[in-house]
Amino acid sequence: MSSNLAICGYLSADELATCLPAPERMAKGPVAVIECVQDIPCNPCEEACPVRAITVGLPITSLPVLDAAKCIGCGVCIARCPGLAIFVVDGSRPGDEGTIQLPYEAWPLPEPGESVHALDRAGRRVGTGTVEKVLSAKAQDHTAVVIVRVSKQLLNTVRAISVEGRAEA
Ligand code: SF4
Ligand code: SF4
Repeated sequence: MSSNLAICGYLSADELATCLPAPERMAKGPVAVIECVQDIPCNPCEEACPVRAITVGLPITSLPVLDAAKCIGCGVCIARCPGLAIFVVDGSRPGDEGTIQLPYEAWPLPEPGESVHALDRAGRRVGTGTVEKVLSAKAQDHTAVVIVRVSKQLLNTVRAISVEGRAEA
């Protein structure tokens, strides 16, 4: 299937419409967003999920389907995705800010408390964020997961971060 992702490197609004969780689900707690729209033979996300919230099934080129009601937002699937296509968003906190868990493969890693540029899917700066936590266990195989706090209005927009003077990821 040809997609905007293949042409431009990021998803079109139509493609996103099939991936984004309902606002009510985001407000309940952390939930995965699987922005995978290409029919490629791949299923580590399905195998990684401890609660079987992701189904690829057969053929293996099928697109992953998330059962948002089952997802507990653990984030285990993020580092397992070779396409860096999975994020976890959480809009359940009181106040104006929520969190995004995103894959990060640049070096050095950001530090908790650090202020970062919040980037959209095309790499454009759309705001600022604050790093809450950085997960980089050996099992993640060099893909760290950064939890960054941003405005709730940007939870479906921000998909990468950059730190002043460092590479984007
Ligand atoms: S965030 Fe956790 S529970 Fe949700 S789909 Fe990913 S691995 Fe499964
Ligand atoms: S692991 Fe990533 S690229 Fe592979 S099917 Fe799952 S979401 Fe798509």
